Formats: sequence, structure tokens, C-alpha cells
Amino acid sequence: MEQPAIFVERTLAIIKPDAIDQSAAILRFIEDHGFAILQQRRLHMTPEQCSDFYAEHYGKMFFPSLVSFMSSGPIIAMVLAKENSILEWRDLLGPTSSHRARETHPESLRAIYGTDDQRNAVHGSDSQKGAEREIRFFFPDGK
Ligand code: ADP
Ligand code: MG
Repeated sequence: MEQPAIFVERTLAIIKPDAIDQSAAILRFIEDHGFAILQQRRLHMTPEQCSDFYAEHYGKMFFPSLVSFMSSGPIIAMVLAKENSILEWRDLLGPTSSHRARETHPESLRAIYGTDDQRNAVHGSDSQKGAEREIRFFFPDGK
């Protein structure tokens, strides 16, 4: 019998510096939701790397403080794989603001581990193009 095709999609996830002490629980959450972690890297980004990663937000009010937050400590960058992983991972993150996440998505990672509009614990790519760019950013040799 023919099996239905499954299209596995990759997305880029980050455990941000404010949640690095919760990384064991967050990794368990990821695996409990059926994502495969294809690649994983712990690193401490420089301010230049953060500016580069968040270039789309250059010029916004929160940009300088975002760069300083993201370079304030180690992060874990991961490539996650699952069918429809980009949308599903964004859904599990919850809204950007942790306050809003607690109001509207109390089970989401940002509701549980985030603090405010900036310190929101986790990142996820927002589109296929974004995911490709972000995966290449952290894993340029596919390693
Ligand atoms: P998301 O991470 O949900 O895709 P954005 O791409 O809009 O959100 O913003 C990137 C990151 O910048 C956010 O995750 C958050 O850490 C920070 N940020 C966004 N908006 C604000 C804001 N209004 N004030 C402070 N920090 C913000
Ligand atoms: Mg974004």
C-alpha cells in the first residue's frame, strides 16, 4: 500500500540568554512535541553577530537593547525538523511579548519562561526564507 508523503520541514530555534538555565526543560518540551533536533550548538554571540542576525530590526527603538541582551550570555541554537515545523514551533513559542503570551497562550514557552517584551526566552524562524537564512547563519557548513 502506498504511504502518504511526509514533508519534513526545518526551522531554527534559539534558547536565548535569559532562559539558558531552563534549557533542559525546554529541550524536553521540544522532544515531547515530536521535533527532531538535527543540529545543536551552544555559543556566546558577539554584539556584531547579534546585529547581523537581527538586521531586519535595525533602526527600531528596541534594536540596541536587543543586541545587548542577545550578547549578554550563552545561547543554544538548534535546527528542528518536523512536518510543518516553522508554524508549529512559532505556535508553541507564543506571542513576542511574554506578558501577552501569559494572557492569550498560557501554555506557550514565552508565557512560561519569558519575562517581558524583550526577554522572551526563545526564538523561532518566521518563514521558509527566514529559516533557510537563519540555519545557514548558525550552521554554515551544514554541521
Ligand atoms: P519574534 O521573536 O516573535 O519574531 P520580532 O522578530 O518582532 O519577534 O522581534 C525580535 C525580538 O526583538 C523579539 O523576540 C524580542 O526579544 C525583541 N523585541 C521585539 N519587539 C520588542 C519590543 N517592542 N520591545 C523590546 N523588545 C522587543
Ligand atoms: Mg522575528
